[in-house]
Amino acid sequence: SLEEDGLGPERPGRVIANFGPAAVVEGEGDLERCAVRQNLGTLAAGDRVVWRPGVHGGGVVVAVQPRRSLLSRPDYSGRLKPVAANLDQVGVVVAPRPILNEFLIDRYLVAIHAIEGVKPLIVLNKVDLLDREQRLEMDARLETYQRIGYPLIHASTKTVRGLDELRRWLAGRTGVLVGQSGVGKSSLVNALLPGREVRTQALSRATGMGTHTTTTATLYPLPDGGGLIDSPGVRSFELSQELTLVDLERGFPEFAPYLGQCRFSNCAHGLDPGCALQQAAAQGAIDPRRLESYHQLRLSLKAVP
Ligand code: GDP
Ligand code: ZN
Repeated sequence: SLEEDGLGPERPGRVIANFGPAAVVEGEGDLERCAVRQNLGTLAAGDRVVWRPGVHGGGVVVAVQPRRSLLSRPDYSGRLKPVAANLDQVGVVVAPRPILNEFLIDRYLVAIHAIEGVKPLIVLNKVDLLDREQRLEMDARLETYQRIGYPLIHASTKTVRGLDELRRWLAGRTGVLVGQSGVGKSSLVNALLPGREVRTQALSRATGMGTHTTTTATLYPLPDGGGLIDSPGVRSFELSQELTLVDLERGFPEFAPYLGQCRFSNCAHGLDPGCALQQAAAQGAIDPRRLESYHQLRLSLKAVP
């Protein structure tokens, strides 16, 4: 039934993908191409919205719910654009091949902690490539992260090891997978979402946007209410240029008990005398390699003297 303005009654929906003036919204299982009221700003995959069906199919998004979290990325002109909304978790995918790089993991963790309301997780993929000894070596290197409190999942898309654990991790939540090229993110996404091809085709039909659907951040809903948001841009998620020292420190949660404990209030935690972080590193309470990463990342901050 249509109301006076020719639109049907309000319904809840989730944004599957945003294409600028239009968004694909999942409402009660169907995909609907919806116009977006201009005052709503740019929508992102994962946004919870209120939409109203139109006369000839499709509809209009009339409201956006407040976002629990938001991942933004610079567009071609350098302006930050919302990409994925209401994320709960970000999985950093690492693998023995191409190479396990802890500094990169630390960088990703800082970037993830900078998104309010999102929790990181580490996925060691391609464990099928490791013999027993190599496995132990990898585990020893990743133990630092487990001690800090990040969950670690061992996975292999070849042996399907860890895929159930990843599904459980996504159950009722929205997540993304990020990481270096070649670690197996696409393979994992395909393994977790067997119907992806079909869904991408359905999306193309709903939007009439054809190939754009492969580059736009897209929410793939999972049966239990959770979902995975994926796109080439999301996968190559990077540290923001606008990061502050506070953001950086949030990316090293194990430093928290020592921050503010140094002899000098402006301590840079380098060779400064009475540095509580250096002391904690010397005593093994924090990993000296993490402190090194911190310094390396600190050099890349714009705003820090
Ligand atoms: P992405 O760049 O992170 O998306 O990585 P891809 O998913 O494209 O995978 C890169 C390469 O790693 C491909 O050749 C995959 O076949 C391979 N690969 C992915 N997952 C695994 C795995 O669990 N084990 C092994 N041995 N190879 C894998
Ligand atoms: Zn210090």
